Amino acid sequence: MSKNSKPNLVNAPNGYAGEGFFATKLNEVVGLARANSMWPLPFATSCCGIEYMATMAATYDIGRFGAERMSFSPRQADMLLVMGTISKKMAPILRQVYEQMAEPRWVIAVGACASSGGVFDTYSVLQGIDKVIPVDVYVPGCPPRPEQILDGILTLQEIVKSESVRRRSSDEYKELLNSYNIK
Ligand code: SF4
Repeated sequence: MSKNSKPNLVNAPNGYAGEGFFATKLNEVVGLARANSMWPLPFATSCCGIEYMATMAATYDIGRFGAERMSFSPRQADMLLVMGTISKKMAPILRQVYEQMAEPRWVIAVGACASSGGVFDTYSVLQGIDKVIPVDVYVPGCPPRPEQILDGILTLQEIVKSESVRRRSSDEYKELLNSYNIK
């Protein structure tokens, strides 16, 4: 935010307003609160992690989106950002970190390597983190610029806002985790 600009308030959720009242759905309120207070866990293994550092810094200022509170403990994070080449040896560690995160949790694959293995089509590199954990948003690029990373976070915010509070206990979600053999 430049020194002359004013802070923007997030838009109110959909609902009904009248004199002295505003009514909306629980889903909308919970979604709004979750989306604007994401706690990122940066899982950075190579160059894309540097772009994330730039995204955190003053020029791009990820704090404008309520996501500046980084956590290096999976138990206090709900947005896993995977940035960099993930070797097959590293895959079980990534999966363990994901499993240690409490629900609800979301995942962004930042850059070509995390999304698909990137240029490293080799025997040792995982060809996309979605081979071992579910992914919500893919950010393209090698490396993606900070604007693209912010765009990925904004896209995730839209997903979070529209997610039902019941989704995590739904059969579809259990099926998704089962397909990854995650309990
Ligand atoms: S996508 Fe490109 S910039 Fe990002 S980790 Fe892979 S090689 Fe590095």
